[in-house]
Amino acid sequence: MRFVLGLRCTICGAEYAVDDVSYVCPRHGDDGILDVMYDYDALRQHISPASIAQTSTDAGIWRYKPLLPVQADSPVPPLRVGWTPLYAAPRLAERLGLHHVWVKDDGVNPTASFKDRASALAVVKAREAGAQIVTTASTGNAAAALAGLAASMSLQAVIFVPKTAPPAKIAQHLIYGARVLLVDGTYDDAFELTLKVAKEFGWYNRNTAYNPYMSEGKKTAAYEICEQMGWRAPDRVFVPVGDGCIIGGIYKGFRDLLALGWIDAMPKIMGIQAEGSSALVDAWERDLAGWEMTPQPANTLADSISAGLPRDRIKALAAVRETDGAYLRVSDQEILDAIPVIARNTGVFSEPAAATAYAGLVKAVEKGLVDPAERIVVLLTGSGLKDIGNAMKTVPQPPIVAPTLEAVKAVMREA
Ligand SMILES: *Cc1c(COP(=O)(O)O)cnc(C)c1O
Ligand SMILES: [Zn+2]
Repeated sequence: MRFVLGLRCTICGAEYAVDDVSYVCPRHGDDGILDVMYDYDALRQHISPASIAQTSTDAGIWRYKPLLPVQADSPVPPLRVGWTPLYAAPRLAERLGLHHVWVKDDGVNPTASFKDRASALAVVKAREAGAQIVTTASTGNAAAALAGLAASMSLQAVIFVPKTAPPAKIAQHLIYGARVLLVDGTYDDAFELTLKVAKEFGWYNRNTAYNPYMSEGKKTAAYEICEQMGWRAPDRVFVPVGDGCIIGGIYKGFRDLLALGWIDAMPKIMGIQAEGSSALVDAWERDLAGWEMTPQPANTLADSISAGLPRDRIKALAAVRETDGAYLRVSDQEILDAIPVIARNTGVFSEPAAATAYAGLVKAVEKGLVDPAERIVVLLTGSGLKDIGNAMKTVPQPPIVAPTLEAVKAVMREA
């Protein structure tokens, strides 16, 4: 924590030393999400793009350790989190009449989603705090990430997910040895429950947008994008949004790099939500502040971005407003349609929430929001294997054939 100056409340701006608060601003209770502040002048003396280039990419997000809120000598998980590929996607670009599109495939993380970036921080912080048990509420991926990373560090995870979470995600929790409680309610219910339970039992709480360090893990994707693009920021980044922690983290990452002088412009950040869970699009359109938002029903097949009251709403709104981006909503059908399009044109298989980012790019092009010359990155946040049920809705059932040449010829004639 050599370079951490303290924590600042995103509502009132009050500043705290890291040891003076555990998770949130005491004046604002559970809504008082804190932002980690850094000493950029000192950082600039200590780390540079050139020094990072000397480190092995096998270290993943820990290549940027001085820019993360952990002790220099803290043990980090052995699993490789981050340094995920940024693939040029010329066929997607061509479909949309654009010149430069990349997809960042965070489905290749150890538990197959972007959430590993945050859970990696969570287990390091839990160890620093001397905790043995870590808990989280989750729609599924954050918990899978916590379960896997906890297993890698010999910590016990206790998971609270809605009982409707996709089976592949629940399988991950169980296989990694987490204690799993299926909540008879929504993600929002699970979140509130976890706050109470963690306090009661004294467990380390990973909850998104409550634990201030989760955004810090997520910001590493912005570092990687810029490094992978030769320390030049893209012009526009498309991010799928539920609670808003990823988009807030991405914004933080680009801001860090701008403050360090490693990039010279901010990308425009585009937040994409499912129509049935679009509280942030609504707030952005109506010019509401985060603290003016109220819970709304959330209903989308993209389970990872189903959030009635996005927990990181303040950071999420700032990410778009401060970068002159936009919030857009896409329908569940548009999300489903995007899954095979991305897969067939890049080779990357995305879960519905991840495909939402690309559906948002399609929408932005339709609305004329994108200049064809822009350099655009689409963040693919989770593997398609997480949710086979929805993926299979987008493709026909294959024919069953007798094991004979004749049968195959008959099928090929029909096609
Ligand atoms: C969690 C998640 C998101 C959304 O992140 P938020 O921080 O909740 O906005 C998007 N895609 C996937 C695959 C996720 O797991
Ligand atoms: Zn406050």
